Amino acid sequence: MHTMDEWIHKRGWMTPERIALVGESDQYTYRELSREVHRMAGVLKHKLHLKKGDRLAILSQNREAYMIAYFAVAQIGVIVVPLNIRLTAAELAYQVKDSGATAMLYEEEMGELYVELTSLVNFENAYLFDDIHHARYKEIPREGNSDDPFIICYTSGTTGNPKGAVLTQENMFWNAINNQHALDLTSDDRTLVILPLFHIGGIGLFALPTLLTGGTMYMPRRFDPEQVIDWIEEYKLTVVMGVPTIHSAIRQSPSFETANFESVRWFYSGGAPCQKELIQAYVERGLPFGQGFGMTETAPTVFMIAKEDYRRKAGSIGKPVTFCDVKLVREDGTTAGPGEVGELLIKGPNVMKEYWGLPEKTAETIQDGWLHSGDLAKQDEEGFFYIAGRKKDMIISGGENIYPLEVEQVISELPSVDEVAVVGSRDARWGEVPVAFVSFVGDPISKEDIQAFCKKRLAKYKVPTEVIVLDELPKNATGKIDKKTLHQQVVVSE
Ligand code: AMP
Repeated sequence: MHTMDEWIHKRGWMTPERIALVGESDQYTYRELSREVHRMAGVLKHKLHLKKGDRLAILSQNREAYMIAYFAVAQIGVIVVPLNIRLTAAELAYQVKDSGATAMLYEEEMGELYVELTSLVNFENAYLFDDIHHARYKEIPREGNSDDPFIICYTSGTTGNPKGAVLTQENMFWNAINNQHALDLTSDDRTLVILPLFHIGGIGLFALPTLLTGGTMYMPRRFDPEQVIDWIEEYKLTVVMGVPTIHSAIRQSPSFETANFESVRWFYSGGAPCQKELIQAYVERGLPFGQGFGMTETAPTVFMIAKEDYRRKAGSIGKPVTFCDVKLVREDGTTAGPGEVGELLIKGPNVMKEYWGLPEKTAETIQDGWLHSGDLAKQDEEGFFYIAGRKKDMIISGGENIYPLEVEQVISELPSVDEVAVVGSRDARWGEVPVAFVSFVGDPISKEDIQAFCKKRLAKYKVPTEVIVLDELPKNATGKIDKKTLHQQVVVSE
């Protein structure tokens, strides 16, 4: 099988003049991108002295050179350890040491974080992207293979140390193909890459699928809703992918109602549960808005709703993508029936190779080729899937299962509720009880009114016993609500 850098070099040869990548400071045709990939591969090899199998940390926001580095590592078989810039230096030091990264590329803006990190770990070589910008080296032959590890993405998890999901070039390739199929991507597509490149969502959606298809990816440095709206209008973007918080911020922007979104054939949300109310706000504005489901360990896409179904099946994550199989199983491993909630198991060429250096964790997570996602889901009679929550988030109250997502969806129907998260709190009588955290966009609603609203729609044991109002719910680096922090708050306040 071919390596990832070949996509770009072949494209540079076949469609040299076509625009591949538009960033904030530069734009590259496929020919220019191919040249830059060759140049960067030379830099990595000769200046950073990296060889096949070595690990390269990158500490940067989205920038064109970051994207180029991703293809260059594939050319020489080096593995990227993308560092999440919202973590602390101590958290990053753990990932650098665990992965054994010996070199780092970073950007000026990382100043303090860079200083702190390099006081905790020693890199043999660390360079600013700007400092390698002018280096010129002779083209180097390909040394990478498609089944080489390509990236080690650390996933936080709620317990223990972060684990490094090892994704190969082939994993990334199949994810790109799966997205191409699910979205009917063509070379006319102009996609927005707004998620950070240090997260699988940035590189896997839609950077690689776009470039594989010969389209154009548009990549701002960081998320600003007004800028996204401007770019959609100016560049006539066709696919806008984000996590729910991104779509929610776009929707709340003052220009949302009047902006010209005619070019967009797909607003697409994934990475965290998307409230039905948010989907409806887009649909009512005449905008096609669908959901998908993915995880780091699956490079990431597993499900995506088709454009034929997003209205009729709002809230569903759709059906599994082409080259990926799924099943839902009960606690005892037997297959769950229609409408029954079970754990989601995933098998396919997009499933990671392993957790870095953790053979036992890998064996626990991938059994007979099936990745145990830890997510709970159900399927309706027509084969559409719905996420019911995380296995470990499930609240058991007096022996009854409560899926927080179900309660969150009810509360989010209240007009002025902006964000909501439900977590379990320990309770002497029931074992656990649900507690809701909410933030409002308009007039706040009282705890009693929220509970009364829930009582009309949910069984009594599912109604939150406590409602805690926050200005904003805590988020992790990819914009997902950070339930771990909320859990701690419940424990502390007990
Ligand atoms: P990460 O590996 O950080 O991308 O997180 C993956 C997790 O995000 C999954 O295991 C799910 O728990 C959650 N997730 C992703 N997409 C969705 C979705 N559409 N609805 C609900 N949860 C989602």
